[in-house]
Amino acid sequence: VRAIEIPFVCDQRGDCCRHPPFVLMTEDEAVLLEAARDRATRELDWQEDEPSGRFVKLMGKPCPFLDADGLCAVYEIRPYNCRRFICGRPSGSSEPWQETRDGRCANVTERLSQSVAFFRHADELQTAAQPWALAHGWVR
Ligand code: SF4
Ligand code: SF4
Repeated sequence: VRAIEIPFVCDQRGDCCRHPPFVLMTEDEAVLLEAARDRATRELDWQEDEPSGRFVKLMGKPCPFLDADGLCAVYEIRPYNCRRFICGRPSGSSEPWQETRDGRCANVTERLSQSVAFFRHADELQTAAQPWALAHGWVR
């Protein structure tokens, strides 16, 4: 059973920017990041998301926009999937970053299945990010 604190406060360790193999986003979001490529630590590696045909993937591990201080260099234009993500860890030092076998964040996946209150909290945070999503190519 994982510790749950609501509201969740991100301690900005950057693990969710360092570990995932890619960030999935719309073309609109990709255009914004491409225009900010001078803030990246390396060439941007874009790949099509073949199953959907609607999204593109910015390849990560780490994300090229994770800066030397472990912060997002494009925070004000970060994609919806970054805006809505929470790991749920009360502290990154007390709980390591963990992945499920299929590469999802185990820290949040287990909390979502463990606590209705946490699920609702995560849903509220995602809802708060949706105006950005709808303005940048995501559809309901
Ligand atoms: S959401 Fe979690 S993994 Fe991502 S920066 Fe915040 S504390 Fe770290
Ligand atoms: S765009 Fe920013 S928030 Fe999103 S994965 Fe990259 S560094 Fe992290």
